[in-house]
Amino acid sequence: MFILSGRPNSGQGEVPLERYRAFAFVDWDDTLVATNVLYSLANRENARDVLAALGEPAVVSEEEILTLADEIDLAKVRTIGLSHSRYPEAWAEAYQQLAEKWGRPLEPAVVKRVRERAEQVAWAPQEWLPGAQEALRVLRQAGAEISIWTAGEVEVQQHKLEHAFLSGQPVWQWVDQTVIVPDKDTAMLRQALGPRLTWPERCLVIGNSPRADVRPALELGVTAVWVQGDSWSYDRHPIGEDEPGLHRLASLTQFPAWFERWLQR
Ligand SMILES: [Mg+2]
Repeated sequence: MFILSGRPNSGQGEVPLERYRAFAFVDWDDTLVATNVLYSLANRENARDVLAALGEPAVVSEEEILTLADEIDLAKVRTIGLSHSRYPEAWAEAYQQLAEKWGRPLEPAVVKRVRERAEQVAWAPQEWLPGAQEALRVLRQAGAEISIWTAGEVEVQQHKLEHAFLSGQPVWQWVDQTVIVPDKDTAMLRQALGPRLTWPERCLVIGNSPRADVRPALELGVTAVWVQGDSWSYDRHPIGEDEPGLHRLASLTQFPAWFERWLQR
């Protein structure tokens, strides 16, 4: 678990935990900033590239290529984790498998291109999602401690955060800490929340992933705010209709009104 302290120039020093009205653990990818859309664009371009390289007559559809690359990628997540190199490798393998299966020549230039296109996604600038900066401002104003709660490789996640915070001043000033973990689950969340779990009624996890954000929060008996935006196949997980502690928002633009009610509950 890699913890980076925020508010480098706030001069506020350490605030004792009991003073915070809430402890907000806010997911990064596809909660505060758009991520999946970058992968979807690269996927689409790669699928077209592979389809063209396989040549005439067409033996697979673009959708089948996308499904295969996604399956290989997911299998890699389960074996090697959220390493950023797995996604470019998945694309190279998908093309290799298809060329082999259908007896088409493997073009090294295409292998290189799909790999590079996929490789760039992890480092691409991310756009703030609607309501994201306002949600952080509202949390800060209400006296909440804000933790960015994110999974992946430290180098990649840090790069993305730094880029977004440069374009999102003064948001960085409102963030107390960034917690980067190899992958999120209930044990990781318990460890990250640590002494904050003395006040479970003040803890909330805000995120788009049923698997990584919602399920762990519900298992620890803290509030889960499920922001139901874009997400990728690895994030899927069954969540019941009426689970105690679960709140669904269509977008973070609904967060200020929801949070106001939550504070007064
Ligand atoms: Mg996410």
